[in-house]
Amino acid sequence: MTRGQEVKRVVIKDAGLIINALKHVKKNPKYVLKLFTLFSIFSIATILLLVGIGLYKINYDYIIRNAEDNAIRIAYTIFDQERKYLLSTDASGKATIHVKEEAFAMLDDRMKKYLHPLNMFKIKFFSTDTKIVYSTDHSIIGKTDKTNQALAKALRGQTDSKIVQKGSVLDLVGEKRYEVDVVETYLPIIDDNHDIVGSFEVYIDVTHSYQEIRKVVTYSVVVLSVVLVFVFGVLYFLMSRITGQLSKTQEELHLMAITDGLTKLYNRRYMILRVEEEFDRVTRKKVPSMGLIMADIDYFKKINDNYGHLTGDEVLKEVAHRIKTSVRKYDMVGRYGGEEFLILLPNSSIEETKLVAERIWNAVREKSVGQCKVTLSLGATCTVGNEELNSAINRADEGLYKSKQAGRDRISLT
Ligand code: GH3
Ligand code: MG
Ligand code: MG
Repeated sequence: MTRGQEVKRVVIKDAGLIINALKHVKKNPKYVLKLFTLFSIFSIATILLLVGIGLYKINYDYIIRNAEDNAIRIAYTIFDQERKYLLSTDASGKATIHVKEEAFAMLDDRMKKYLHPLNMFKIKFFSTDTKIVYSTDHSIIGKTDKTNQALAKALRGQTDSKIVQKGSVLDLVGEKRYEVDVVETYLPIIDDNHDIVGSFEVYIDVTHSYQEIRKVVTYSVVVLSVVLVFVFGVLYFLMSRITGQLSKTQEELHLMAITDGLTKLYNRRYMILRVEEEFDRVTRKKVPSMGLIMADIDYFKKINDNYGHLTGDEVLKEVAHRIKTSVRKYDMVGRYGGEEFLILLPNSSIEETKLVAERIWNAVREKSVGQCKVTLSLGATCTVGNEELNSAINRADEGLYKSKQAGRDRISLT
């Protein structure tokens, strides 16, 4: 298998998969933190909303139930007390609600006296035909309310209550009150024969309790939001530290996966991937050409043999450093084999490639590394026309081989 074919195999099998996996993993800690932040915001908002609505509903129901209980107790007490003035029996013996004329002033007086201390604004008595037979508001006596659903329900025997906001109301002592919340309750009036003979409508002032609900709900939601923000804040802080650490570790892992431990240059696998990418750009005509340099230390085995492996390692590190500092910022240097290096020169012509190769060659040979005189043999080439990547790599390799054959310590352009 030629070097070029081997390149292709490794690229397809290893590099793409690993780099893709790394890219994916690299995104993860930040993604987790982002997800946690979104989840926290959503949770806080949901908890506050549910608690707010729940508290409001519990208190609201309590107010209504309480007001309704009061209304029932008061209305039936009044009815029992005033039964003889309120109930008449017609010729057929059927009882009906009716306020006797001679009793009106007395009843009216007593109503106001009863109701005022009990937070009540108004009471109405309806006959079964929805006619108002008595109201503390005299102006509506005699009117009928046929379309009133709550009244119809009460006349069928069921109690109905709801909170309504009144822009302005006259209270029982004739004072006008603004923006009040009242619980309006309709109750059936049932006589001794268990017949529905009419209905009461009772207004109970719940402004104060209703304002209390708003206060309780607001206060609870504020306290809860502070607690939640604190709890999620602490969690966020811990998460961000953990994910930060994780990101750092993964970056280190990523770097380890793409670099060579000894020389800190890119490893062979990553270099191949980058060469492939750049070649793709050439193929898509994004750039006219790219340069490739293959460099190999001459007689490296002798350095190992004469000075030991550790010195050999030091030489490798120093040569790697010199190559790295000889190339341009955007060129890429990788350790391709034991003492062999591959240099990729993106968007470069053969002239530029030759210049860089000469700089590398000079930088290594001009000064010995410790006691060792080190030289490089190089093969430099540039992509041409519609060729395959394999042939460009093979050409750089052939250049290196030519330099070795010609006595080493030189550059061959191919
Ligand atoms: P040539 O001029 O033909 O390239 O000869 P050479 O001796 O440089 O080449 P050869 O392929 O015969 O030997 C390369 C040696 O490099 C053999 C191997 O032990 C050594 N080598 C490979 N990797 C390392 C390394 O990481 N550290 C050290 N110290 N030596 C290494
Ligand atoms: Mg060698
Ligand atoms: Mg070699």
